[in-house]
Amino acid sequence: MKPPEIEDEGILARYPFLPQGSHFIRKVLQDNGISVSELIDEPWLEDVRIRGRLRLIDSVLQKDGIGSSSSIDLSTDVGKMTEVLSFLHAMLVVCASFDERLMTRWIEGESSRADLLLGMDDDNFPVISSSYLSGVRAEDNGRGDLEYWVPLTDFIELSPRISGSYWRLVNRPMRDGWVCLDAGAGETSRQRAARLIKERIRESLLRDCEGRMEKMDDEFAARFSEPVERITGLLSERVEAEMPMTAAIRDDWPPCFESAVSELNQGVNVNHVGRVFLAAFSRAVGLNREQTCSFFANAPDYDSETTAYQVNQIYEREYTPHGCATLKTNARCPVQLGEDQLCDQEWLTHPLKYIRAKQRRRYRDERGSDGGAKEESGSSSANAS
Ligand code: SF4
Repeated sequence: MKPPEIEDEGILARYPFLPQGSHFIRKVLQDNGISVSELIDEPWLEDVRIRGRLRLIDSVLQKDGIGSSSSIDLSTDVGKMTEVLSFLHAMLVVCASFDERLMTRWIEGESSRADLLLGMDDDNFPVISSSYLSGVRAEDNGRGDLEYWVPLTDFIELSPRISGSYWRLVNRPMRDGWVCLDAGAGETSRQRAARLIKERIRESLLRDCEGRMEKMDDEFAARFSEPVERITGLLSERVEAEMPMTAAIRDDWPPCFESAVSELNQGVNVNHVGRVFLAAFSRAVGLNREQTCSFFANAPDYDSETTAYQVNQIYEREYTPHGCATLKTNARCPVQLGEDQLCDQEWLTHPLKYIRAKQRRRYRDERGSDGGAKEESGSSSANAS
């Protein structure tokens, strides 16, 4: 399959995940003299990051509709740049989390958004559909409506992932190796075709994310710790039941958190900074309030009501957990130089960076990666897409 050339930059901005989009993202970075590193923290790119954050929240919370980024004016260069780079920023945040559940949710949100956009996009439907399907034909059905036909091979590959009797081959009209996607289930023929294309978009986003995660090194991923913490915190608050805690694996815990939990468990009197850190860190990594309260149950001065009140305050006010410097100053860092390789790293300035780095290692180990992944340089724009 060779996707058609797309010269219209408005289309590439509206659908930045298109196979033809990576070249455009690189061009936008180069034309504006922006490196990936600058995308992370340059003040003048704050609007892009805010837009990326909104798009990420819309996708992850799976709000109905196309979401906040639909309001961007794509006829201007600034609009195109904002749309494309906000998409890139959101994707980098998702990849830097090394959290598969977050990634799956983001991909679902982005592909659903594409499905909706595409279903309404008369003008661009032909070029977008032929970027994802090996063929697509539109025929007049004799009642004045267009009916879309797709090759049997595409249908057989993609339809099993969609529920509903409409998507079973026996229920589809077929002719000469082409399958008819006529209007059905309250949708037009084009919307049905867009639903099928959504599956290809999901596939390609997953491939892109996995490729990026393979290339991302600890130091680069750590630079996204703030937005990663924000989005995982939000997830844990809003969709606790669907997204179980990200810190389920105790081996991933940083020594400062581990020691606060086990000292309290043994009835040792952990100081105020240690207790606030314990609750704020628990919130940031997605533990629920009950689990956090239970860490205090063996504390020498334990009182269930006071604990519940204080933990609630920390969750409601969304306290950011203390960084390494504060924990060290307050005798809450149990690690000496040489005792933990990760803690010895210069970039390791926050326990949240520790847990993400651990998750990243586990993600790679589970995939049998050789660990010798290439580094994604923070200063190069060329490898951004
Ligand atoms: S160096 Fe930082 S992450 Fe490691 S144990 Fe100390 S405070 Fe925790």
